[in-house]
Amino acid sequence: MSVAEQKLAYLTAAGRFDLCSPGECLRLLSAASYITYSRRTGGCGRMLKMLLHGTCSYDCAYCSVRLQRERVGFSPGEFADTFLDLWREGLVGGLFLSSGIARDVDCVMHDIVETGEILRRRGYDGYLHLKVLPGAARADIHDAARVANRISINLEATSPDRLGRIAGVKDYRQDILKRQAWVAEEKPGGHTTQLVVGAADETDAEILSCLADQYRRVRPSRVYFSAFRALPGTPLASHPDTPTWRAMRWYQADYLLREYGVTADELRAVLDEEGFFPDRDPKVVLADGRMAVNVNLASHSDLLRVPGIGPKGADRILSLRRERPFTGLADLARAGIRGKAAGRYLVFGGRETVQTKLVL
Ligand code: SF4
Repeated sequence: MSVAEQKLAYLTAAGRFDLCSPGECLRLLSAASYITYSRRTGGCGRMLKMLLHGTCSYDCAYCSVRLQRERVGFSPGEFADTFLDLWREGLVGGLFLSSGIARDVDCVMHDIVETGEILRRRGYDGYLHLKVLPGAARADIHDAARVANRISINLEATSPDRLGRIAGVKDYRQDILKRQAWVAEEKPGGHTTQLVVGAADETDAEILSCLADQYRRVRPSRVYFSAFRALPGTPLASHPDTPTWRAMRWYQADYLLREYGVTADELRAVLDEEGFFPDRDPKVVLADGRMAVNVNLASHSDLLRVPGIGPKGADRILSLRRERPFTGLADLARAGIRGKAAGRYLVFGGRETVQTKLVL
């Protein structure tokens, strides 16, 4: 193995805890160097995901890189050579580049941006996701947004107090929230963030408030949820792991907030007395607490709250019921809806019912 290949292997393994795909949550413990992702144009691509520098002067309690004192990393030019070889051979179609803060933030952020600029200058036109480091300068965020398809800055925790427990060196308001507001201005609709679920003992109620604030203020296109894993030798080595299902429930809840118009207040009703989600699909728990809806009268928003009905299914129901009312479960198949999931949350009124309602 060449020196470049050895560094590549180490830095891709070190970068695996920074998520850029929800499916990674399940594969987190594998040391896969590449992840597959769905292309907007269809099919799957292979993305290289790694750190530019594998050393860090910061001391976050949950992170493996804090333990690495030996300098391992690429210069921007050296990494660009290595990546472009892989890309030209067809081995990778995308890049997610993050970094430990090997020196000061500005130096490393310059390296990240310069890497992106070299790749673009040398003809790389594939997907490029660049990480914005906490405390990064506005000019570097501007340049990262210019060359990358997507940029991101990790929240890691839900509040200054929670972050203080696991990464006291980072100032939540200054280093992260202020930079995230710049990220949102420089790349509207093209930025993401990540939370490490469970590391700081936050409740799901706190995550929910944090997310509601995120969507109100900076509108990330995605929020990634990483279930905390205790790493040997770190200050949190004896902290219990977060069950994977908790992060997966958060992907479901976040989808409801982002795509289904479910409000944070509605989701709050799903939480138990201690402020945690049960291990059940939040959409099902929400529907269990509501009255069944009449498929021939319900609004688009009410249909979206029925398990088994998504945005396209709700659209189809609205369109088809104009021609002929739904009379039973068998009719749901007309709209491509699986009656098994949705049936028990629906009632079927006749045409008279519909017309009476419409006249009113
Ligand atoms: S800043 Fe913290 S989380 Fe990021 S690489 Fe350094 S120690 Fe790890």
